[in-house]
Amino acid sequence: MKKFLSALTIASVTLFASSKANWSYSGKIGPDYWGDLSHDYIMCKVGKNQSPIDISKAVNASLTPLNIYYNVKAKTFLNNGHTLKAKMKDGAKLYIDGKEFKLIQFHFHTPSENTIDGKYYPMEAHFVHSTKGGELAVVGVMFKIGKFNPAIQKLIDNMPKKVGEKKDICQTSLKAKDLLPKSLEYFRFNGSLTTPPCSEGVRWFVLKEPVEVSKEQVRAFESVMGKNNRPLQNLNARVILK
Ligand SMILES: [Zn+2]
Repeated sequence: MKKFLSALTIASVTLFASSKANWSYSGKIGPDYWGDLSHDYIMCKVGKNQSPIDISKAVNASLTPLNIYYNVKAKTFLNNGHTLKAKMKDGAKLYIDGKEFKLIQFHFHTPSENTIDGKYYPMEAHFVHSTKGGELAVVGVMFKIGKFNPAIQKLIDNMPKKVGEKKDICQTSLKAKDLLPKSLEYFRFNGSLTTPPCSEGVRWFVLKEPVEVSKEQVRAFESVMGKNNRPLQNLNARVILK
């Protein structure tokens, strides 16, 4: 009997751990409850280096210029029910801390997740990179209301409006570099994924200069994604470098 019970326990734990619990940005499965939805999401609740954060009181440091190679096309544009995400063709890279990070995908949040000196931007893009060993780095780009943005329009013209829908965007020739501002000066800090499982150990680089986008263009993203930004998290013992 005892043997049977422990086998049962192991089976149910395995089942629970392997299930990807559903989550959202509001209500009963919203950000306040992410850590309770699955054992896999525990860091959302107990983590001390969580993202996003308010970027203020940054400390001056001699940061190396961001060494990125983004002259590579995006392949597909997916609506996964949480964000609009563009997957990249191979070859886009970020070199930092003596390591090579491959750009996997970029996606969007409306409004921004991180804030700068307490200020929210209407949209933020996250460029998500990984080393071969699975270390993660995210480059954050803020968008502010201004001029019409032709690169962003390529995405809007191919927007997957239904959850689960995926568009082939190779023919648009949109490259990751088309979404970057002129200056690559950045703030640096340690953080996490901003969605479950909220894994920590993520290197964050948020660019200081925002990219311009028209009000209608932000509205186009917002109308599909809704409000998809996690609330600000405590800085705790972390330092922000500039
Ligand atoms: Zn993100």
